[in-house]
Amino acid sequence: MFTAFRTAKPSQYLKGATGDWEVIIGLEVHAQVASNAKLFSGASTAFGGAPNDHVSLVDAAMPGMLPVINEECVAQAVRTGLGLEAEINLKSVFDRKNYFYPDLPQGYQISQYKSPIVGEGTVRLDMPDGEVVEVGVERLHLEQDAGKSIHDQSPNHTFVDLNRSGVALMEIVSKPDMRSGDEAKAYLSKLRTILRYLGTCDGDMDKGNMRADVNVSVRKPGGELGTRCEIKNVNSIRFVGQAIDYEARRQIGIIEDGGTIKQETRLFDPGKGETRSMRSKEEAHDYRYFPDPDLLPLEFTQAWVDELKAGLPELPDAKKARFIAQYGVTPYDAMVLTLEKASADFYEDVAKGRDAKIAANWVINELFGRLNKEGKSIEESPVSAAQLGGIVDLIVDGTISGKIAKDLFEIVWTEGGDPKTLVETRGLKQVTDTGAIEAAVDAVIAANPDKVEQIKAKPTMAGWFVGQVMKQTGGKANPQAVNEILKAKLGLE
Ligand code: MN
Repeated sequence: MFTAFRTAKPSQYLKGATGDWEVIIGLEVHAQVASNAKLFSGASTAFGGAPNDHVSLVDAAMPGMLPVINEECVAQAVRTGLGLEAEINLKSVFDRKNYFYPDLPQGYQISQYKSPIVGEGTVRLDMPDGEVVEVGVERLHLEQDAGKSIHDQSPNHTFVDLNRSGVALMEIVSKPDMRSGDEAKAYLSKLRTILRYLGTCDGDMDKGNMRADVNVSVRKPGGELGTRCEIKNVNSIRFVGQAIDYEARRQIGIIEDGGTIKQETRLFDPGKGETRSMRSKEEAHDYRYFPDPDLLPLEFTQAWVDELKAGLPELPDAKKARFIAQYGVTPYDAMVLTLEKASADFYEDVAKGRDAKIAANWVINELFGRLNKEGKSIEESPVSAAQLGGIVDLIVDGTISGKIAKDLFEIVWTEGGDPKTLVETRGLKQVTDTGAIEAAVDAVIAANPDKVEQIKAKPTMAGWFVGQVMKQTGGKANPQAVNEILKAKLGLE
């Protein structure tokens, strides 16, 4: 049956009282299609706005209203399928998924069941240890979002906001190919990166534009698959990891105590870091799916698909491979640089015509590090690519040391300005004048006769002397020159 499944690495096993356990994870991601209008009506998809401002008669399910497919949403789903290296189905069918919810005025959701628009595909994960994990995509289908019930406006009424009702969603279903919370987090993150490159979903999880249903089960390594539980609507990558870790532990505990897992839908409580039961899991037949009689099967030509394919941007995996080949950066650095298209573009502007490895180092460690710390996006960076490139130029031509470069970066970050001019006006130039360095070395040696004695027995202490000389020169001495002069004066080597 399911024995062909990938098995976890021993390092991913969870230890239980009765031995090792393997966690099996699959994700169903709902991604809001980037489009101005809804899937079957012309109403706006804009976020915010007064409740029920963006609702057409179709979205409100007024009797006799008919849905009309939005071609742009279909194109976005096809682009996404192509980006996931998936098969595109030239004919697909919309079905009614019947259930009652106060914020679902139709009494059914228009979705796709047996014939989705996109079939099997692949997402590649770059794990921190360098391993590339392939996660299969089972399918992608188009469907409508529901509205929202609002319970906190009145003590005895519930209000309904239909602004989201009818907004196009892509439900992207993975195969149960993930074996740890970290892999699930990497999958979600990679999927979001791909969607954002494609421009088919903004991936904004805070606004609910991307949310994950997480299927978790446990088994003895390589054994029979266990019963799974589905954790609904997890809305952050971090929570996905926490929910999986908690849920796997919970299931192991129950089985090891002699119990059995009930298939059910659960909710993750971020405050407590726990999952709790929401309802027993419904089966597909509970929804009484049938083809929507208001909609013809969705058909398009291979030529149209080819046209969309020709218009796709360079995607993260291809960009990463090109960065490795073209700039000589490590696979991990290439992955970090290509997480966002805007970051990759920024890096290329810095690297152009310069030492690409030093550029990568500065973009990743100094710039990304600082942006992360301050919660800023690359678009909000106070330091431009031209400015950072200017700093790299000054390091490479020996005008400033690495240490001074960090100070210079700080000045450019907070005050702006041209790096080259700043080095002149602030007197930041590296001291390569050996006479000045010798004087500083002499001073340090004269002030520390005891240390001079010690270093003869322990040459690794040279670092301490270098530090003292750098201090004396305000960090501006050329470190290489300091090393050489020190060694000569102390008679090392
Ligand atoms: Mn769905």
